[in-house]
Parts: sequence; structure tokens; C-alpha cells
Amino acid sequence: MRRIDAHTHLGECDRNYFGVAGNWDFTSLFTGDDLVAFLDEVEVDGALCFPLGTKYSDAGLPLVIEAVQKHPERIRGFYWGNPHRSEAPDELEKCVREYGLSGLKLHPTSDSWMAGNPLADPLMARARDLGVPVTIHSHQPGSQPALIGELASRFPEVTVIMAHMGMHNYRDAMYVAAKEPNIVLETSVQPWAHRMARDVVDRIGVERLVWGSDAPLHNPRVEMTKIEVSALTDEEKAQVLGGNIMRILDWE
Ligand SMILES: [Zn+2]
Repeated sequence: MRRIDAHTHLGECDRNYFGVAGNWDFTSLFTGDDLVAFLDEVEVDGALCFPLGTKYSDAGLPLVIEAVQKHPERIRGFYWGNPHRSEAPDELEKCVREYGLSGLKLHPTSDSWMAGNPLADPLMARARDLGVPVTIHSHQPGSQPALIGELASRFPEVTVIMAHMGMHNYRDAMYVAAKEPNIVLETSVQPWAHRMARDVVDRIGVERLVWGSDAPLHNPRVEMTKIEVSALTDEEKAQVLGGNIMRILDWE
């Protein structure tokens, strides 16, 4: 079984502000090398990473590109798209075609838009045309599961990974995912992931649940334990902890 973390970040990472997990030896810039060292320590085989927040994207995106090129065995990366920027769809395409990135990260709350708003449709359309998946933040104002359902329903060909599984709105997340077959739920920082996993798998299918940690802001060991102690079978755990995200990313 390969363990692949479907939610990590690279970029400016102020420990005091973010409360970074563990006692890691890195500067305020968390790089691909740091991520690989971090994965080794927590015994995780690979990770999907995103730039850390729009306001840090100047530092984050080059680090993500560097990481996927330097560590192709261990790291995949997404472009962070702010739909207020008209150049974002072209940047996404360039990142996928020229720099080897694998998809799109959206964060309506950080970028001040509503997930159901057509503002992001040009970015979603480009993701669809490129055939890449989209990860979207799913709690806090603007990012609620019901709004993500609206977005996902307009782009049924795009795999939409709902990061954090709606957080405290986890039942909404499950309900929306049951209606929209292109939504995949992702468990990072989801407090009830260990309780919900069985329910999610029974209702929407094991292939639509993926594990993530939100490292380095959270510790993958803690997040992984939620899946390990859940009521899933060993085979289901293997899919959730790595198999599913590898399939979604065409990761051999
Ligand atoms: Zn995150």
C-alpha cells in the first residue's frame, strides 16, 4: 500500500502564525525538500501540494513547480487559481502543459468569491479542457458544500475534490456529494473523519474518499490515524490513504 497525502502546502509558512505541526527544521519558506523530509519522518510515500495561500503565491508557485520537477517520485502539485485574475486560466494551462502540474486549487474564502458564483467558470472550463482535477476549500463563508455542489454540477466532467469534507458541515458535504457524482471528499483536518468514513463509503462509494493532512499546518500522523482507526476494511483504507488519489492524478 502506498500512502499519498492529498493535501499539503509549500510556501511562506510562519510557524508562529500557522502553528506548524512538529518541531521541523526549516526557515519560514517550506520547500519541496522540506516536504520530502517531512514525509519521510511521518512515513508517507508521496504528496499532492498547493501554494500556501494566494497572498503567498509569489513564493509558493515556483516552489511547487520546483518540487514536482525535482521529486517526481514523491510530489505532485496544483496551480492555485484566483478567479478574480483574468490571466488565471492561461496560467493554469501553462503550469499543466509546460511545468508538469496536475490540477487546480481553488479557495473561495481566501480569494473573496462565492463558490457557486460563475466567476470561476473560466478556470473550471480550462481544467475541464485540460482534463485535470480541482481541489476546493469547503468551509468558511463562500466555500460551503452547497455552493461547491452548484459549481460541480456545472462541470460534471471535472473531478472536484472537496478539501476538509465541509469541516463541521460534513453531513452537508456528504449530501452534496451524493447528488453530484463528480465530487470526491477529502479528509484533511476533518474532526469527524474517523466517525464519518464508514458512512461516506457506504453512501457514495469508497472510490470517492481521499485522505489528506494539510501539512505542514497539521501533522499527517494525526490525520492518518483517523483513517486507520475508522470502521473501514483494510482494503478500503488502502484506497482512501493512497489508491484513490493516485487514480485521480494518473499517478503510476
Ligand atoms: Zn490547506
